[in-house]
Amino acid sequence: MSPSGVRGGVPTGAASGVTVAGSGLAELTCARLLAGRGHPVRLTPAAPDAGPRPLLLTAPTLDLLRSLWGGGLVDDAPRLTHRRVRWGAHAPAARFAQPAWVVDGAVLAHRMRARLGPLPAPDGPGRWTITARTGAEPAPAGHLRQAGRRHLLVGTATLRPGEDAATAVLATTDLGWLQLTPLGAGDCLVQAMVPGPARDPAALLGRILADSPLGAALGRPPRSAAAVAAAPRLHPAPALAPTPARPHGRLTVGAGAIRFDPLSGTGTAQALRTAILASAVVDADAAGIPAPPLCGHYARRLRAAYAEHLRSCAALYGTAFTGPAWQDELDAARGA
Ligand SMILES: Cc1cc2nc3c(=O)[nH]c(=O)nc-3n(C[C@H](O)[C@H](O)[C@H](O)COP(=O)(O)OP(=O)(O)OC[C@H]3O[C@@H](n4cnc5c(N)ncnc54)[C@H](O)[C@@H]3O)c2cc1C
Repeated sequence: MSPSGVRGGVPTGAASGVTVAGSGLAELTCARLLAGRGHPVRLTPAAPDAGPRPLLLTAPTLDLLRSLWGGGLVDDAPRLTHRRVRWGAHAPAARFAQPAWVVDGAVLAHRMRARLGPLPAPDGPGRWTITARTGAEPAPAGHLRQAGRRHLLVGTATLRPGEDAATAVLATTDLGWLQLTPLGAGDCLVQAMVPGPARDPAALLGRILADSPLGAALGRPPRSAAAVAAAPRLHPAPALAPTPARPHGRLTVGAGAIRFDPLSGTGTAQALRTAILASAVVDADAAGIPAPPLCGHYARRLRAAYAEHLRSCAALYGTAFTGPAWQDELDAARGA
């Protein structure tokens, strides 16, 4: 790492440090990577707990998590062994081995924070701010690109006795796709993707369950449900280099930078990858590489991942949802 200095009127260098504004999985991973490379890191206090955030992590995601954080973060999480998928009204169901762990994202973030321990902080705010939050940044970064309006309805219910508690099950209905994810102890996460917002998520989830053979696996539909915005989304300016007028650079990471359709099952892996890339930008800047091209590279990598993701969404959704309700979502994926 080179010593700090001044380049184009903007301070450069290793000692200028980073503020990590947020305590999500990507933000904490940046803190770990950068602190490990000797950068002073200031972590803003954790946000108040907003309750559990269930995540299904497949083996490749867990491998990535372990490679970044070491083992022991999710070893006590309920484990699934298989997945059963029936995608499209006329497709046969297929059951295949797919090891996966059902993790509470809030608990995982809490454990990551504890594992970080105290960090040497920079004197001021630092040369970079890294965050997964959106909305507070200056123009032109305020407008997120979003491909569609779809929402994930999320509730929990009880599995009927005798149901397979080690297999996540995915199927489609005319309204959208439906997934049941056993959570252990007879509980089950019930998720359904619908092509827009939902005024009464629990009622709509009940209708979808009634439409699907999967509904029979539950004692009763979830009593309550939330509708979470879940269309793919890309931040148009996820990396702003420091300038003489704005000496603090900004790197947006995690779901704030790029949000994948939950169907992909790779949202957390993608968030961790943004953390690796953003940390590399900070590290390379500290080593004296000009920040604007580093930021350009970061944005291009995200755009390429987003374009690839939209192509696979268009292909996948296009095979299962041919009715008018999903047309806008398909058009958004194809046209973005
Ligand atoms: C509906 C939906 C379902 C998903 N399901 C999966 C899945 O099954 N598997 C998968 O791999 N990915 C899934 N994802 C993606 C996943 O949620 C995130 O992309 C990933 O876990 C980590 O991204 P992150 O670090 O940006 O977000 P987070 O860890 O969510 O953090 C983002 C920001 O929110 C703040 N924050 C986090 N927790 C709290 C809290 N409790 N209270 C207040 N603020 C908080 C953080 O401080 C941070 O600034 C899903 C996404 C959506 C939208």
